[in-house]
Amino acid sequence: MSQESAEPKQPPFDGPPLSLEEELAAAKAEPEPGPTIETVNESLKDGLNRCPKCGSTDVQLRGSTGMLVCLFCRNEWQEARVEEEFGLGEGIDQLEGTVIASGAGDIQADAADMLTFKCEACGAEVVVDTAHALNARCHWCRHTLNVNQQIPNGAVPDAVLPFRLTKDEAVEKIRAFASKRRLFAHKRFKKEFVPENVLGVYLPYLIIDARAESQYWGKGEVQTRRWTEKQGDNNVTYYAADVYQLQRQVSFTVDDLTIEGSAERASFGPANTNNIINTILPFDTKNAVRWNASYLVGFTSEKRDVNVEAVRPVFEEQLLSIGRSQVAGSLGRFDRGVRWEQEKIDVGGSRWVSMYLPVWLYSYRQESNGLLHYIAVNARTGETMGSIPVSQPKLLLAAFTVGTFLEGIAGAILVATA
Ligand SMILES: [Zn+2]
Ligand SMILES: [Zn+2]
Repeated sequence: MSQESAEPKQPPFDGPPLSLEEELAAAKAEPEPGPTIETVNESLKDGLNRCPKCGSTDVQLRGSTGMLVCLFCRNEWQEARVEEEFGLGEGIDQLEGTVIASGAGDIQADAADMLTFKCEACGAEVVVDTAHALNARCHWCRHTLNVNQQIPNGAVPDAVLPFRLTKDEAVEKIRAFASKRRLFAHKRFKKEFVPENVLGVYLPYLIIDARAESQYWGKGEVQTRRWTEKQGDNNVTYYAADVYQLQRQVSFTVDDLTIEGSAERASFGPANTNNIINTILPFDTKNAVRWNASYLVGFTSEKRDVNVEAVRPVFEEQLLSIGRSQVAGSLGRFDRGVRWEQEKIDVGGSRWVSMYLPVWLYSYRQESNGLLHYIAVNARTGETMGSIPVSQPKLLLAAFTVGTFLEGIAGAILVATA
């Protein structure tokens, strides 16, 4: 420790000086500050998102272009893509430890949702309930105030992927989906389909880059012989096979793995059809831009409520699944299949960013059983999926995961009707 340091770690004036061992131990006990990525936009911190051309704060997203538009002078612009701004496309194969962007930091249970702004234009105090909105209009001078600073309650992410599909386009997608599934044949559904009830909502996700190595142990069988014997009136087929002990190992990187940032949305059960959202993945997360609350004007959003550590088991499960698909190509000779008995994942490094992804949602309550169903539209790609009310209220849920090496993967859940 240098003499200039004013830290209270100095031995008391009359005490014995610290030995080298003691000093090393003290240095070791200090937690290593993990690398982090600061994503807060300092220039917007005062809450006023001004049009760069005329200075108006009447700014919102123009869905048809995916850009911000000034309602006063019609000027359009956008925030920088986080991919370049924070170098998120780089260095995945060299990631070390857990790198967490500032907007993906741990949520503090006692963090207040209420924020008070002093309106710069008129001096009035404006309260924003960040649990439900990230913009508010000053009712004295009508300036729009925005929450651009990061608060530890999960409401403000690092990045946002703006809506691209307009509401009219989403309504068309939902109509087409419902017609194809013969939903409009259900009298009640047809009668109650109200396009006005299609809502635009930003849902919280954690977007992860990672470098990992996975290992698998198990048995594979190669058929050596096959024959048929007559037993009474039946023909019985027999196989003979060699059984091999197998071990496979693969190193890989993933770019923009997408995992829910809301515990409720991630929960899985037949009574909960919310995970329909997973079927409309993936999103073009590469086009996400720096946080600017103006992108949320006119939309609703949901706070992130899970931390990086809580998501880690899901994250590792997805990595194991990607690894399994990576080694599948080397198992062709085991024509009677491979059964993995043990697996292991080592995450060399990972990088976590929180992001809002845009979804158009239409909800429908099924009268016969009270179940709430959704039709969801990916507001970037138009991909549409729904949990469908049917005459016999039986939903079959099957889970599987698809992976694409280096392309980013999406956990997916298929909903089939019986
Ligand atoms: Zn303007
Ligand atoms: Zn004001």
